Amino acid sequence: MDYLPIFADVKNKLCLVVGGGEVAKRKAGVLLDAGARVRVVAPKIDADLSKQQRVEVVRARFEPKHLDGVALIIAATDDRGVNRQVSELAHERNIPVNVVDDPELCSFIMPSILDRSPLMVAFSSGGASPVLTRMMRGKLETMIPQNYSRLAAFAERFREVVKQRVTNPAKRRIFWENALDGVVAEKVLTGDESSAEQMMQQMLADEDNIQRGEVYLVGAGPGDPDLLTFRALRLMQKADVVVYDNLVSKPILDMTRRDAERIYVGKKRDDHTLRQEEINELLARLAKEGKRVLRLKGGDPFIFGRGGEEIETLSGYGIPFQVVPGITAASGVASYAGIPLTHRSHAQSCIFVTGHLKDGTMNLDWDALARPKQTVVVYMGLHGLDTLCTELIKHGMPDSTPIAIVQQGTTRNQRVITGTLASLPGIAEKEKPQAPTLIIVGGVVTLREKLAWFNPE
Ligand code: SAH
Repeated sequence: MDYLPIFADVKNKLCLVVGGGEVAKRKAGVLLDAGARVRVVAPKIDADLSKQQRVEVVRARFEPKHLDGVALIIAATDDRGVNRQVSELAHERNIPVNVVDDPELCSFIMPSILDRSPLMVAFSSGGASPVLTRMMRGKLETMIPQNYSRLAAFAERFREVVKQRVTNPAKRRIFWENALDGVVAEKVLTGDESSAEQMMQQMLADEDNIQRGEVYLVGAGPGDPDLLTFRALRLMQKADVVVYDNLVSKPILDMTRRDAERIYVGKKRDDHTLRQEEINELLARLAKEGKRVLRLKGGDPFIFGRGGEEIETLSGYGIPFQVVPGITAASGVASYAGIPLTHRSHAQSCIFVTGHLKDGTMNLDWDALARPKQTVVVYMGLHGLDTLCTELIKHGMPDSTPIAIVQQGTTRNQRVITGTLASLPGIAEKEKPQAPTLIIVGGVVTLREKLAWFNPE
C-alpha cells in the first residue's frame, strides 16, 4: 500500500484552496459538501464562489499568512512555483496539503469518490492510472444504487439498539448482514421503511434463531483469480473464517474478507500440516461455534480434492453446507497451455487420474489409460513420471506419443514442458518443473504449437 486511506472530518473547519480556476472551484465544492468552511485565495476568482455561504474569498496573490488557522490545504493553481511554495509552507507547519496533479508536492491525495452519504466509497490508484480508477468507479456506480444512502441512514438509526441487544460482535455482524442483504434492505430501498422497521424489531426479538454456522466448500480454480465464480467470490467475502491449503494462490486468498480469520492446513506433498480427519473435525468445530466457514480449495473441491470426505463429516453432524464448483486444474491449465482436452482429430475422450495413490504407489488401470484417441490428464503425477511413461509404453502406447508437463498453470509462473513418452522423463530431470504440475498425454499436446496464447515468461 502506498497510501493509507482515511476519511477526514473537516466539518466547520477552515480549509484553504489556493487558485481561482475551474479545478479550484471543484475542490472548494467538495470541501463545502463535507461541511468545511473554505478560504479561497487567488488574484482572480469566479464570482459564483464568492456568493456561497461558508466561503471566504481573498482576491490576492498567495501569501504565507493565508495559512493561518487552516486545517487542510488544496493548491490548484497553474503556477508550479506557487504550488511548491504552498506545499513547502504546509509541510513546515504540518498542515495536510494536496497539490492537484502533482503527487510529489502532496502529503495526501484525493480519491475519486462515489457518494452515497453516509455511505462513501473512495477509489485511488495512487496516481498510477486515473483512467482505471474512473472505470472502477463507473462499475461500482451501477452496482450501488442511489438509494443506498437511504439504506445506510436506516442502518445508522438501528445501530445502537442492535449493539445493545446483540452483544457478541460476530453474531452482530451476521445479524446486520442478514438485515442488509435480505428483505429488510429490499423494503428500505423501495421506500417502505415502516415495514422494514417492523421486520428489524422481529429479528431483534428472535435474534437467537438467526445465527447459524455454515460451511462453504468452495473451489478456487487453478490459480488465476479471474477464474473464480461469482458465487465463490460472494461467499469468500462473507465468511468469518477461511480454511485453506497450499494450492490456493495468494492473490485469491487476498480476495477473502479482510478481517476473516485465516487457518492454513498445509498439504504439500508429504507435508500435511493437519491430517484430513483433523481438517474435517476443524470445519465442524468452527461451524458449531456459529461461524461461517469458508473451506477454500484449489481447483474443484470434488476432483481429487477430498471435498466429499469433508462434507460427509459435516453431514454426520447435521451442519449445513454448500458446495461451489471451481475450474479444475485439467480444464484451466489445458486452456491456458493451448491444449484442447478433446479434438475431433486427436481425442474423443479424456480421462483424469491421480498419480499419487493412498499407499504411495502408482497402480493405475494402464490398459484403460493406454487406449488410442484419448487424452490422459494426470494430477499429482510428477513423482511418478518415469513409471507413467514406462507403463503407458508397455501397455501399447507408441513411445512417440506427445506428452506435456504444465507447471503452475494459469499463473504468471506457468511453464509448459513438452516431449514424448520416450523423451520427457529426461527433459523433466533437466528442467526441474516446480509444483503444482499437471501432466497431459495424447495427440492434443501437438496443437499447442498453433493454439498457445498465454505466454507469461
Ligand atoms: N481439486 C484440485 C486438484 C487437487 S490435487 C483441482 O480440481 O484442480 C492437486 C494437483 O492438482 C496438483 O498436484 C497438480 O497436479 C494439480 N494442479 C492444481 N493446480 C494446478 C496448477 N495451477 N497447475 C498445474 N497443476 C495444478
